[in-house]
Amino acid sequence: MKGNEGNHERVLEDVAAKLRSLLPKELGVTRIAYEGPEVVVYARNLIPIYEKPDLIRNIARTVRKKIVVKPDEQVRKKESEAAKIIRQIAGEEGEIVNLEFEPSTGEVIIVTNKPGYIVGKGGRRLKRIIAETGWKPVVMRNPPLQSATITQIRSFYRENTKKRINVLLEIGSRIHRPLLFKNNYVRITGLGAFREVGRSAILLETKESKVILDFGANVSSYEPQKHFPKFENIDIDEIDAVVITHAHLDHCGLVPWLYKYGYRGPVYVTHPTRDLMVLVQRDYIEVARKEGRFPPYSESDINSMLLRTFSLNYGEVTDIAPDIKLTFHNAGHILGSAMAHLHVGEGLFNIVYTGDFKYANTRLLDKANTQFPRVEAVIMESTYGTQDQPPRALAEKNLIEIVNKTLEKGGFILIPVLAVGRAQEVLLLLIDAIKNKLIRGKEGEVPIYLDGMVYEATAIHAAYPEWLSRSLKERILRGENPFLAEFVKKVESDITSGGVKREDVLKSEPGIIISTSGMLTGGPAVEYFKKLAPDPKNSIVFVSYQASGTLGRKLKEGINRVELPVLEDGKQRVVSIDVKMHVFSVEGFSGHSSRTELIEWLRHLTPKPKHVILNHGESSRIDGLAKIVGKLRCSNDRMCLPKNVKIHTPNIRDSITFVEEDI
Ligand SMILES: [Zn+2]
Repeated sequence: MKGNEGNHERVLEDVAAKLRSLLPKELGVTRIAYEGPEVVVYARNLIPIYEKPDLIRNIARTVRKKIVVKPDEQVRKKESEAAKIIRQIAGEEGEIVNLEFEPSTGEVIIVTNKPGYIVGKGGRRLKRIIAETGWKPVVMRNPPLQSATITQIRSFYRENTKKRINVLLEIGSRIHRPLLFKNNYVRITGLGAFREVGRSAILLETKESKVILDFGANVSSYEPQKHFPKFENIDIDEIDAVVITHAHLDHCGLVPWLYKYGYRGPVYVTHPTRDLMVLVQRDYIEVARKEGRFPPYSESDINSMLLRTFSLNYGEVTDIAPDIKLTFHNAGHILGSAMAHLHVGEGLFNIVYTGDFKYANTRLLDKANTQFPRVEAVIMESTYGTQDQPPRALAEKNLIEIVNKTLEKGGFILIPVLAVGRAQEVLLLLIDAIKNKLIRGKEGEVPIYLDGMVYEATAIHAAYPEWLSRSLKERILRGENPFLAEFVKKVESDITSGGVKREDVLKSEPGIIISTSGMLTGGPAVEYFKKLAPDPKNSIVFVSYQASGTLGRKLKEGINRVELPVLEDGKQRVVSIDVKMHVFSVEGFSGHSSRTELIEWLRHLTPKPKHVILNHGESSRIDGLAKIVGKLRCSNDRMCLPKNVKIHTPNIRDSITFVEEDI
């Protein structure tokens, strides 16, 4: 990150003068500051903003900056006093569950069972709250499951208000520094997940800025050469921003490691990704410790990241460097997953980095976005590049059949999952199937055990109904909790909160165990596997992609004896385990697009790109997909790719440079 502090003052002064002339006088503007990617206007009276919802949007368009109006500290009532007033305005009927004040933003989060009532007709109650307390109300529905992670993250920000404000100012001045160079090239370099799957990372460079897109770990290997993205020749101080598409470890797992080595810039994510990312990173540390590996970063590095994390909505245009704007769009892969649209220079070049995406509706999410304002280049995932998947309905039928057959024999069904995404998709299906008696146990309803982070990840899903599929959102808004039922049991190491102890699960009546990790690279799923593997009554069912080299992949390929470390009396020794349980793989649940869906997405993509860069796939899949994409070239159909489209299939460390003449 380069700073030009002197000049930036002048830039801010220009913007501030323009804003003062455009904003209505009754706001009573006290000061204007750059805070992170936003220009924050402090005002004594926010009512005009509530009365004219388009006002700020229109002004933002004129000055081409993201503008947020916050109440001036001076007009804010003391928290205890403000709380009293808010409770009075809401009355008993408002059903306020909790009030959380966030001094760094001037917001008060009102957690309620009746969000509509708190808002009131035409925002009537919100206006009263802001006028009488000086705090900006943010209304949140009381989620049907409580997430410990979300609670902790909110209190982290409250405890670190001063630090957060300093970070906002520092990052703000860097983002809005004056442009030193006129752009004349855009370069992307693959740091990880090019001709492979895992450790996703891309460097995007212009003459002015450097941005990292995803920074993941390769969980199928812990050798440093294979586990980390290829980061050796990059100066950490020169990075302006890190953009994370979604909260899977292979996309976000090593972001705190950047902070450990001195990165102090911002990370951009969607709101749900922030919470899920912290959850999976904490788990990554814990699993490493339990398995006797030295974690590459610690909780304090996660906190350092959190202090500099900016969470965004889909469709929100944000300056992340003097010459780069970022907008996230739905990717349909997991909760909060995003495609990153990067607008470089003044219309010089537009890149869509898809991250992982699903171009089909699932129980959990609506399908990925295809409409962008401009696109010159697409960097597209190719996980299932040459492979189609059976229809979802068939996959569901197959899974239910395996579950029933195993239960008839009196066996357990182990479903290893990534905690975020497949776990909830499969859970929703199984809950519905049990409720509709499509799955029957010998003694009534079959128990589903959720172990590892699955329960907590599910609670985070329940907190973001607006980010889920339309049908699921409606169910949650009706007050239903589709993620929970009597027969769903939380497994924990201590059972103070009413769950089941892990060692008791296998002593209970047979049921379904949904547990991490998805590729059996660690976590409780491996512990269950060790105990269940020798008995042919039991089944293991893979529902997601198994990377080469993982235990999951080996089992899928038919290995019948595995060597695994076990901990006995505090000492680790390796034992040999005969795999007699049935190994199934049900295709069709993937959160990734199948070959057909990848192609359909490209056909529907608007506008059409001039470059298609394929990544996130094994070499054979990438080469196969490149051939198929090549056949999409034609000139007489708007679903085609342009005749001169360039298809790139780079290796790790390869760079592709786009210069003005090229574009
Ligand atoms: Zn993913």
